[in-house]
Amino acid sequence: MSTTTDNSNNKAPKFPEQVTGMYILAEALRRVGIKDVYGLVGIPVTEAAYAMQKVGLNYYGFRFEQQAGMAAATHGYLTKTPGVLLTVSSLGMMNGLTATANATVNCYPMIQISGASDPDMVDMDLGTYEQLDQLNTARPLVKFALRCSHAKDIPAAVARAYRAAVSGRPGGVYIDMSTPALAEIMDASEVENLYFTPVDPASAVAPTQQAVDRAVEILTSAKHPAILLGKGAAYAQVDDKIKTLVETYKIPYLSMSMAKGLMPDAGPYSALSCRSTIMQQADAVMVIGARINWMLSFGKGKWNPDVKFIQLDIEPREMDRNVPVAAPVVGDMSLSLDMILEGLKGKTMSADSAWLVSLQAESKAKNAKFAQRLTEASAAKPMNHWTALSVIKPILESNPDVILVNEGANTLDDTRDSVDMSLPRHRIDCASWSIMGMGMGSSIGAAVATGKKVVAVEGDSAFGFSGMDFATICRYKLPVTVLVFNNGGIYNGIGVNPSGGDAPAPTTLDINAQYNLIGEAFGADGYRVETTDELRDALTKALASGRPSLIDVQLGADSGKESGHIGYLNPAPLIEYTV
Ligand code: ADP
Ligand code: MG
Repeated sequence: MSTTTDNSNNKAPKFPEQVTGMYILAEALRRVGIKDVYGLVGIPVTEAAYAMQKVGLNYYGFRFEQQAGMAAATHGYLTKTPGVLLTVSSLGMMNGLTATANATVNCYPMIQISGASDPDMVDMDLGTYEQLDQLNTARPLVKFALRCSHAKDIPAAVARAYRAAVSGRPGGVYIDMSTPALAEIMDASEVENLYFTPVDPASAVAPTQQAVDRAVEILTSAKHPAILLGKGAAYAQVDDKIKTLVETYKIPYLSMSMAKGLMPDAGPYSALSCRSTIMQQADAVMVIGARINWMLSFGKGKWNPDVKFIQLDIEPREMDRNVPVAAPVVGDMSLSLDMILEGLKGKTMSADSAWLVSLQAESKAKNAKFAQRLTEASAAKPMNHWTALSVIKPILESNPDVILVNEGANTLDDTRDSVDMSLPRHRIDCASWSIMGMGMGSSIGAAVATGKKVVAVEGDSAFGFSGMDFATICRYKLPVTVLVFNNGGIYNGIGVNPSGGDAPAPTTLDINAQYNLIGEAFGADGYRVETTDELRDALTKALASGRPSLIDVQLGADSGKESGHIGYLNPAPLIEYTV
């Protein structure tokens, strides 16, 4: 084993009789079933990426580790298998860790593998190359973290990381792959005995019959029952079971952002437009794979104080987090739904017949009003968010198999509110942390994991965080169309510097920027559109071509309000400073 990070005297192994830790890593990933790796190479992991290609993995090289991590996270969400991120030591590791932490928060399975300087030297603070105590940096932000100091430990580390990522509540796992382990040479025959594939890595645990009976009793006794679908339900790929539950028992449902399409947004039981009514009037809500967190007003305030929550979740600590849960159903989603459907057999619902009818009437009225709003907006010049969406909505809705990636402030809110989804797992957004800076990475992960076309609807600010990885979309020729809603600012482009000076306001960006040229710089088709006709034409062409495309959607600078729908989260109302 090498004890310094200077490997200049190391001999190359006599391949294939001998292999390095880097090759063992590649082979271990392949043997557990990983096919795709997202990363950004440099010392000490460059050879590891070559080895990955050598053993037949697809390696996707990014421009920013955070975006490679967002790709891995989205890959994990869409496939129920860990997305894999490869990073270099120190800053590369930390750039990637942002995405791994975000994956953990959102319950997406992924494994970040980072090269690391010799831990013996790091621990003694000898000032080695890219010195950082990476293992302890990662630990509080991930589900499980471990370090390989020896090449012989790599196969087990990979197999255990795989199990940790996908079992129980899915999340991010970190492997600190130290330089000595990567550099170590072993006899290939000796390594052969070390590889193994984890048996039943996501062992499904069933809830108790008592928990199921309690849930069934509350659901069938309710006068105003409702179902709340979250991205945990979408992740679990139990689409048919949810459809059976909703349709057989005629229960209205509300979908959280990324659960949109799990059941069709425009379906007869969809109560998407009746969110407040559900909160105020439902007396039993079955929460399926969603957390009763800030996005659901913590289950209090706006909610009927007498509502009984039935909560299906794999994580026991999720129960009673903000409100007492009347019927916790802790267990694997698929087994839980099987048992609930079995328990419901032969039972009749006590729901008021007027409940569903009134929700359907409310939906119809609200949807008509919304359609009217889009029609009115479609004439606006310059375009505003709604003008652009009046064009994008029908195109995306008639291409339901396209995956929609969406981030921004107003761009996020308005796109989510206007575009109906009709297929599960076709909407990826900035999720529970409501972060900016996942767009290009998630688009790449979605395109690679599914082979489907992707359309990313991005605010101009949001796009800035990940825009350079549009180059990655081009390099790998992925069928991704990016729409940048250019209103020249964070929230909007009309911020004023209250000092009266020339410097841009904190929210001001570049209203005259031609984002399409970024696309063209990397060989994509670029479009700059100022009218609805131009937008329709560009999006139609981009989708038909399946080529990387970047559309600069020029909006008025005054389109969009401060913080979009969540202005109330600002610490205090903004003071209108006069210049
Ligand atoms: P949303 O943001 O859509 O409300 P959340 O991410 O808040 O969704 O909640 C998803 C929930 O789903 C998490 O509490 C997670 O533990 C749970 N979950 C994820 N996968 C499964 C599964 N296979 N079985 C049961 N629960 C799951
Ligand atoms: Mg903007």
